[in-house]
Amino acid sequence: MSFKSLGLSEALLKAISKKGYTTPSPIQAKAIPPVLEGKDVLASAQTGTGKTAGFTLPMLHLLSQGQTLRRRPVRALVLTPTRELAAQVYANVKEYSEFLDLRSAVIFGGVNQKPQIARLHQGVDVLVATPGRLLDLYGQGVLSLSKVEIFVLDEADRMLDMGFLRDIERVMKIMPERRQNLMFSATFSKDIRKLANGILNHPAQVEATPENSTVDAINQKVYRVAKGKKTSLVIKLISEGDWKQVLVFTRTKHGANKLCKKMVGAGITAAAIHGNKSQGARTKALAGFKSGSIRILVATDIAARGLDIPLLPHVVNFEIPNISEDYVHRIGRTGRAGAKGEAISLVSADETTYLRDIQKLVGMKIPVEIIEGFEPDPNASTEPIKQGQGQGRGGRQSKPKGSNSEKSNRNNRGGKSNNSRRSKRSNNKRSTDKRD
Ligand code: AMP
Repeated sequence: MSFKSLGLSEALLKAISKKGYTTPSPIQAKAIPPVLEGKDVLASAQTGTGKTAGFTLPMLHLLSQGQTLRRRPVRALVLTPTRELAAQVYANVKEYSEFLDLRSAVIFGGVNQKPQIARLHQGVDVLVATPGRLLDLYGQGVLSLSKVEIFVLDEADRMLDMGFLRDIERVMKIMPERRQNLMFSATFSKDIRKLANGILNHPAQVEATPENSTVDAINQKVYRVAKGKKTSLVIKLISEGDWKQVLVFTRTKHGANKLCKKMVGAGITAAAIHGNKSQGARTKALAGFKSGSIRILVATDIAARGLDIPLLPHVVNFEIPNISEDYVHRIGRTGRAGAKGEAISLVSADETTYLRDIQKLVGMKIPVEIIEGFEPDPNASTEPIKQGQGQGRGGRQSKPKGSNSEKSNRNNRGGKSNNSRRSKRSNNKRSTDKRD
């Protein structure tokens, strides 16, 4: 299978070869043909599968074959949940459209809107956006979506997690009814299917890989450890293993800062990336991590969403997530493109229930190890960790206002089913978008 045999234009093939790609990834091979046929597509794919090119290449092909309108109204809209992802998708659009007469722009919050408005005034064919800033600028009358031909919803599950459902519905209302829709999601809950039903028209369904095969490519391990010894254990593992590029997940922003400080104190170059960091700081940390000048990137789930870090060898869950799907997202950052990756989880007694949920989701028992000197505390309670706000409904305490939990609206575990928890999250007015 070659990109040429997929029927992409010469200009796109040139850009693809400039990127150094020789063969389409599975999701590209499956998604590109139906998109080129003008069909709606529902794709199951997560970051790292090459999904961005999977929708960008055929989208650009179709746009370049169509009529370029003189005033360049937005003809394709790509909606992403986070700023980082928007920036990455935009970078891809720029690269792939290098030899095409198409203009593109990206808009997201947290930065000055003036340059974005100026760019929009010049006319753009492809707009990549996060929902908040898009609707904000639409409200100001600086952009119109009345000529959109192709709509892409990227990381739809993240969109719902972050409470963007209402915004997506608003965006749908300001686009023409007749358009092609592409929806990408890593997980498929009931809510996602409902959203897909509302957006897509007889979609072609494509899957990157059968479920769990990503997980199969990853060497997963659990270290049972006393809570208070996690920091020294992770430092030991990184130092003794001489790990060069490690993405470490913490549950909270405060936890990320604290761990990062400890790493630096131990002589390991590290940076933290979370919702309280400025866009500039986040970009700088990510660039340092990619270039190798920063060895450890400590991140919260929300900040790490959609980050394009190719071929990451190690992912460490300093705390395992209480939402099992997040575990799959986190470890999906390693073991890319056929390379074997390693995902380590440090699990203390109070995370036992979460580990059980995760194992159920991934359909396997993750091998457990205990390292001498870092044994779990036999007296520690196995009661789940107190989460942030939203616990109230389940009878658990709420954290005080200003808590550091980035997922304060995502943690209700009070005996609810997964779906009801998820839909509750989705219906929550977004509380995280301001930060991401
Ligand atoms: P994505 O899943 O879109 O975030 O892409 C993950 C990574 O794979 C990015 O670094 C892409 O540049 C890279 N990539 C995408 N398509 C291909 C391909 N066909 N061959 C090799 N690398 C690719």
